[in-house]
Amino acid sequence: MTDLHRLSIRELSEGLKQAQFSSRELTEHYLKRIAKIDPKVKSYVTVTAEHALVEADAADVALKSGHAHALAGIPLAHKDIFCTQGIKTTAGSKMLDNFISPYDATVVAKAKAAGLVTLGKVNMDEFAMGSTSESSYFGATGNPWALDHVPGGSSGGSAAAVAADLAPIATGTDTGGSIRQPASFCGLTGLKPTYGRVSRFGMIAYASSLDQGGPMARSAEDCAYLMNVIAGHDAKDSTSINKEVDDYVANLNGTAVKGLRIGIPKQYFNVTGLDANVKARVEESLKKLEEMGAILVEIDLNMTEAYVPTYYLIAPAEASSNLSRFDGVRYGYRCENPVDLMDLYKRSRSEGFGAEVQRRILIGTYALSAGYYDAYYVKAQKVRRLIQQDFLKAFENVDVIAAPSAPTTAYKIGANLSPTEMYLGDIYTLAVNLAGLPAINAPVGFDKDSLPVGLQLIGNYWSESQLLSIVHQYQQNTDWHTKRAAIAEENA
Ligand code: GLN
Repeated sequence: MTDLHRLSIRELSEGLKQAQFSSRELTEHYLKRIAKIDPKVKSYVTVTAEHALVEADAADVALKSGHAHALAGIPLAHKDIFCTQGIKTTAGSKMLDNFISPYDATVVAKAKAAGLVTLGKVNMDEFAMGSTSESSYFGATGNPWALDHVPGGSSGGSAAAVAADLAPIATGTDTGGSIRQPASFCGLTGLKPTYGRVSRFGMIAYASSLDQGGPMARSAEDCAYLMNVIAGHDAKDSTSINKEVDDYVANLNGTAVKGLRIGIPKQYFNVTGLDANVKARVEESLKKLEEMGAILVEIDLNMTEAYVPTYYLIAPAEASSNLSRFDGVRYGYRCENPVDLMDLYKRSRSEGFGAEVQRRILIGTYALSAGYYDAYYVKAQKVRRLIQQDFLKAFENVDVIAAPSAPTTAYKIGANLSPTEMYLGDIYTLAVNLAGLPAINAPVGFDKDSLPVGLQLIGNYWSESQLLSIVHQYQQNTDWHTKRAAIAEENA
């Protein structure tokens, strides 16, 4: 079979169960594609071919026994922020270039337990700080729709791998948009779950009160399958919530849109820098949802201007604290011939961290320092609460809130935006993390350069099933999610 990479997760699951093909054949098919096509895309940091074939053979045995999990034998790629026992985990940094974790992240362990096959670890912005994946120590990844453009970030490798059909599904993490924005830039569906739904154990921490793992795939249905595997309480993560997990696949239904009240925040569609093509495509998608029975309601989200400054205080503050563990002593990069302990700390961190990570450690350390703590950090926490309240008030009147996922389509590689220009590109995604809400990106068309545009739907707490169902129904009535980049059409 030459087109196994075109099958959805449901089709792969059925094909494996009915022995139309084996997990080994499927895995070899993807490994061949990676070997041929990934040198152009550069989505993988590490390809784990040998491990993958061992896992595939084990899945084939389980499949023969008739007692395999629905996803047994299906390959996936993990963002290189999830710790994998025995396999390098770099977080896109020189600091962890040679780091091999002694344990698996819970997300990885759950995927293994379900019999999913790990194809490898995919590229990302260094320590998940960025929106282009260019800050990776391992170099930039290409956007499959235009290789001289970025795939977005920080989960850019995950998005590029799926969009080039180099993995059927991938894990990502989202601290301020890192699942939704790359999904938007690469024409994919990506879900950022409610804070606490997916365990953070073994996910290298950026900003712990905002970080959340989730699925990236070609469709809402594919995302639902992966959510069924990775969601759930974990005693190893104290912020993980002990709440029953939905069956996201069984809950997908074709009636989620009828009567759905979709809030359209006035402030969101007047943002300077909102690209006209993006605005037009998002409005067309909302029109389509209206035709399908949704009710569009104009709403106010008055805190919009506070999103970027609030996030860019809290996230760096938490990052400066989380990243203090990288000191050159126990693991990670260590400088050559330190003269004393101070020199060891200073040079290991100066040489091991890239420029953006150092910038954020400096900002965060400043905001947390004595004398500035109340003026900056405490103030930002108060504003964060107001942002959350703004959403909760909106949800009294609407079921979900619509927005673009990003004000623009993918940037050119090397566009070299200033830090503040780059941060402003996160305007539509940051507040969701500050409030801990779930949100999804769905592809809704292309701009004049044939680059994908994404619609974001923000839900109330624990509404993952609803968000997946809305997008699923939209995808049953449109075909944007079936479009493939030319490079994905290449055969290995
Ligand atoms: N672009 C945002 C940042 O650089 C979000 C990144 C993320 O979600 N990990 O912080």
